Amino acid sequence: MKTEIVKIDPARPEPEKMEYCGAVIRYGGLVAFPTETVYGLGANAFDAKSVGNIFEAKGRPGDNPLIVHVANYETALRAGRFSSEHQQELFYALGARFWPGPLTMIIHRKDIVPYRVTCGLETVGIRMPANKVARELILRAGVPIAAPSANLSGRPSPTRASHVIEDMKGRVDVIIDGGDCEVGVESTVVDLCGTEPVVLRPGFVTKEDIARVAGQCGEFDWRFNEGAVDRPPSPGMKYRHYAPGAEMILYEGNADDVAGTIRHRISEEKSLGKRVGVLATQEHICYYKDADAVLSLGPAKDGAEHARALFDSLRQFDARGVDVIFAESTGCEGVDDAVMNRMFRAAGGKTEKAFG
Ligand code: AMP
Ligand code: MG
Repeated sequence: MKTEIVKIDPARPEPEKMEYCGAVIRYGGLVAFPTETVYGLGANAFDAKSVGNIFEAKGRPGDNPLIVHVANYETALRAGRFSSEHQQELFYALGARFWPGPLTMIIHRKDIVPYRVTCGLETVGIRMPANKVARELILRAGVPIAAPSANLSGRPSPTRASHVIEDMKGRVDVIIDGGDCEVGVESTVVDLCGTEPVVLRPGFVTKEDIARVAGQCGEFDWRFNEGAVDRPPSPGMKYRHYAPGAEMILYEGNADDVAGTIRHRISEEKSLGKRVGVLATQEHICYYKDADAVLSLGPAKDGAEHARALFDSLRQFDARGVDVIFAESTGCEGVDDAVMNRMFRAAGGKTEKAFG
């Protein structure tokens, strides 16, 4: 398949180009597009066949549902419906605070949304992105856009157009190059189908942020190993994900112990002839001069920067051909909960306690 790459100004999306890309979606094509979280791979959410092509292009497992992207509430309610007044109130209260933005809300599905989107579920995840190119694309398409992240299934999510081109060139109709994603990790997924909102996947909007609006907010404990849970509430949680080619191990413990342990592990692996990568906070990269590639996640306290840097760093390790990656844990405060969730899964659950 020939893939067209369309460069669009993220600050002022050119109307003719947006109209063209919208038409590609409307007529059944696949378009990769920037959002503030990560790049998405979009199709007309009401067209089961086009949506099926997304799974094909990504190699995505058939039981991992897609998020429906909308530009306004009217379109959101073409796809979703409320099963109680309580749910409706929560939806509008959270929407008023966090939309447009990196929050996906799960409500009940309307029949017009094909099961191909929800993977057979009676619920649907809906998000209103803030990114101008994404909004314009949805408006021009005239339909909501079903979209997962625009990476090959299992690989780190794309936060730059070059990542999408790497994975998707030759597999989709259009790739929009609209600059880098500001947030860098996927949206927070919150389930509004129970008595209290429950965060199924952490993201930039934290469960504390949601609790401040909703009064309370539960969370699904993402720290389970592959296979330990048969039916996680959010189907995508059961796959090894976001993964670089190299083996990855996450080190937890106090900062000094982590640095000491990783230094020790670097020399062990190097003596075996392995190429070693380290993913560390800005303050710590000086400790790892013996590694083959050391990448910074940003200052220790800057969760938002960690989120922005993570997926690009994982792809850089691949490009630099390392065999093993040692990553410092960031802790789980605020946005770092989302960062740790992605690192944990990129490592396939492999965490080790640093020794003192
Ligand atoms: P991706 O856009 O690739 O990050 O994938 C979207 C994720 O949203 C999926 O992996 C699911 O975990 C979650 N999701 C989407 N729709 C639903 C739903 N109806 N119920 C639970 N989780 C959902
Ligand atoms: Mg994804």
